[in-house]
Amino acid sequence: MTTMFEGNICPVCLSAKFEIVSELSTSGWLFKKELVEDVRSVALLMCAKCGHYMTDTSQYNKAFFDFLYPDDSTSDALRSKPRIYKEIIEFNLDYLNLHTSLKITDFGGGEGDFLKLLASSEDLHGVIDNMSIFELKTKKARTDKIKYISLDLNHVGTAFEKENIEFNYAFCINALEHLLDPRDFLKSIFRASNTFFIFIQVPAVDLLDINSPVTHLHPSHIHYFSLENLVFLMNSIGFKVMRVEIKKTEGVPLLKAIGRKTNGKNNTVHEYLLKEKSRQAFLYESIIECLKGPNDKVGLWGIGNEFRELFRRFSKIGALLNCNQLLLIDSSLKNKRFAGSVILPPEVAKNTPGLQTVFILPKAEVTRRSIKCAAFEIGYRADMVNDPYELYSLNTSGI
Ligand SMILES: [Zn+2]
Repeated sequence: MTTMFEGNICPVCLSAKFEIVSELSTSGWLFKKELVEDVRSVALLMCAKCGHYMTDTSQYNKAFFDFLYPDDSTSDALRSKPRIYKEIIEFNLDYLNLHTSLKITDFGGGEGDFLKLLASSEDLHGVIDNMSIFELKTKKARTDKIKYISLDLNHVGTAFEKENIEFNYAFCINALEHLLDPRDFLKSIFRASNTFFIFIQVPAVDLLDINSPVTHLHPSHIHYFSLENLVFLMNSIGFKVMRVEIKKTEGVPLLKAIGRKTNGKNNTVHEYLLKEKSRQAFLYESIIECLKGPNDKVGLWGIGNEFRELFRRFSKIGALLNCNQLLLIDSSLKNKRFAGSVILPPEVAKNTPGLQTVFILPKAEVTRRSIKCAAFEIGYRADMVNDPYELYSLNTSGI
């Protein structure tokens, strides 16, 4: 019979129902006259909904954390296995090299072993502009290049944002499994910068070797991530997972993942809209440029969406219509009025004294082509009828 347990929240699926799977113990000596074993145990739970393993977080108070991480403890587990750090750099290289300027932060980065190795890598194409480390107990050994900031990763809240550290690449190497609430931690980071990559490494539960006497099941590890659950957690916060891997390095089963936070906009759509504004501004400026003298006139051919947008965005268009410096040309809307101006048929507009140039407004290429043909047939001079979209692309392509 399984024992159900309530009181914890699963960071992966937010369910509160767990089964008690086992108990994890660790012990140390109490140095009295006679050595006394000091045993601490926590319940190991499995989420009944998603299968995520975690220990009972209600048992972690300050005294227990002090027991698990005594002041003189160092994180030399990875230091003694240099291949692990090298593989992290290799795994991230393609994404690091998307940046010409790198602003790197390392959560739980200890004394900077990893960042120093990364900074000395000859494979980086970009320049490292700044490096920072967030760590509960920052050590004395420091270099000028790394900024060390004391922060309890279990209680990030808005403290991290207040530090105002700019970063575009974050590392979180073997830290997430030690945190009480990895979801809360990742959400705080997610909020802290508009766009960045994050690399996460945790022990790989999928590769636990049941034949190995070395265990990763230890009360200092609160969370035990499968690849599926880590990806789900990252996705549900808003990170797009770019790359994952589970692999043993120097005998250690490791799960790696790279997530990306974008500014929330679809970049292609965003860029299109920016370009659209720029095209419109170009058209407006071209019109103004042709109206040097008081009697100069410019024709706008095709009075539809594009004209309406131009009219809405630039108030001077209305003013130019009022003083007859702009002619509205459209064969199907001829003789109708807009904002007090009569829309002229192309053959009439052609003979207007002072007409400098005519801009074709519709965006659709097929419409622009038929307007050009019509202009030629009516007898407009070839250099008089201009396609602002063609002019814009010539103008911005650097030719
Ligand atoms: Zn769950």
